[in-house]
Amino acid sequence: MIRNGSLRLARVGTARPDIAHVDPVLCWRPNAIGSPRPTPTVTNTNREWRLAARPDGEPDMDCFELHETDVPSTDPGELLVQTRYLSVDPYMRGRMRDAESYAEPWDVGDTLKGGLVGEVVESASDAYDPGDLVTGEGTWSDYAILDADAVAPVDPAVANPEAYLGVLGMPGRTAYFGLLEVGEPKPGDTVVVSGAAGAVGSVVGQIAKRNGCRVVGFAGTDEKTDWLTDDLGFDAAINYKTTDDYRDALDAAAPDGVDVYFDNVGGPITDAVFTKLNLDARVAVCGQISHYNDEEVPTGPRKLPQIIAPRAKVEGLLVSDFATRFEDASERLGEWVAAGELRHRETVVDGLENAPDAFLGLFAGDNIGKQVVQVAPDAGGK
Ligand code: NDP
Repeated sequence: MIRNGSLRLARVGTARPDIAHVDPVLCWRPNAIGSPRPTPTVTNTNREWRLAARPDGEPDMDCFELHETDVPSTDPGELLVQTRYLSVDPYMRGRMRDAESYAEPWDVGDTLKGGLVGEVVESASDAYDPGDLVTGEGTWSDYAILDADAVAPVDPAVANPEAYLGVLGMPGRTAYFGLLEVGEPKPGDTVVVSGAAGAVGSVVGQIAKRNGCRVVGFAGTDEKTDWLTDDLGFDAAINYKTTDDYRDALDAAAPDGVDVYFDNVGGPITDAVFTKLNLDARVAVCGQISHYNDEEVPTGPRKLPQIIAPRAKVEGLLVSDFATRFEDASERLGEWVAAGELRHRETVVDGLENAPDAFLGLFAGDNIGKQVVQVAPDAGGK
């Protein structure tokens, strides 16, 4: 295992000698368009990250252990996938806590789970062939077993594969449904987004612009605020780390008040936005990352009086509530991306061994756009 930078590799499970000699002839089945025969490069070792300890406040490397195991084998209906890109997401902090939440908590010793894009190297399903690129829910590991019914194809002609973890994945769908269904933006509305330069926020702002809104974003560096205004078309962006008075900044950036607030972060930014809500404003509470490492919920004066006069609607949103319509969202987001109308960016950390750093970096604001980890190189796949 690797903890605190010192390399201690724990080998578990029994060796599976056959997997080291995967015969491409046995694995390969021709597909309809007669693509060239892929040559799977399955090794017999699989590294996987496990939860070593629950964090107390901000997580650190003591919470993670890297183990070496055997490459798992498929049962009927399953795929063995070599991870290319792994997603790290703020909600995973909730899974490290021993508390009921919308995502099941991890137990200490569990292999960490997460979205991935990978290449099928062994298929026990008619739906996918070795060499196919797919996306689905896997583990923080070199190889993962995924149910063929629960993955979606990745089309590199639409976007780079890692975009399927961001704008074309769960964060993009969160932005799409959260803004359109909960925020209900109307042309002329002012939409404020916190966490605006992240995976969800950057998509929210652009969809709001498509809907004829004035869009204001909060983000933590000048590089991020410049990206929002210069590249993504936001009307204004506020660097909350260099701005003393968020209310004054909002007076300038949102002079007509706030009709929709898409909240990714909570805390003082949210307190300030609540003082600027217009009549019938909608607040979509998507995330509260500024509180995820709190061991106690902060108490004190609440901002709820601010929603009385404007009769504002404050509503929590969960992307999974829209699961039956994910395909619609993916189709529209894919069209916008392919047409160059929806911009996206991914921050890529290299190497599975650096996955915990990539995750911890979310709380320091290290990412612009979607944070992913590159686990295997991009060669191959179709
Ligand atoms: P991001 O890509 O936005 O990454 C997190 C960002 O949060 C960081 O880059 C950082 O940017 C910002 N941040 C970190 N700490 C703070 C802080 N104390 N105050 C203000 N900003 C902070 O993550 P996602 O787009 O994946 O997720 C955004 C939010 O949406 C999260 O809260 C997440 O939990 C939530 N979410 C909810 C879903 C749902 O169904 N309800 C689904 C998906 C995500 P900066 O430099 O600007 O500080």
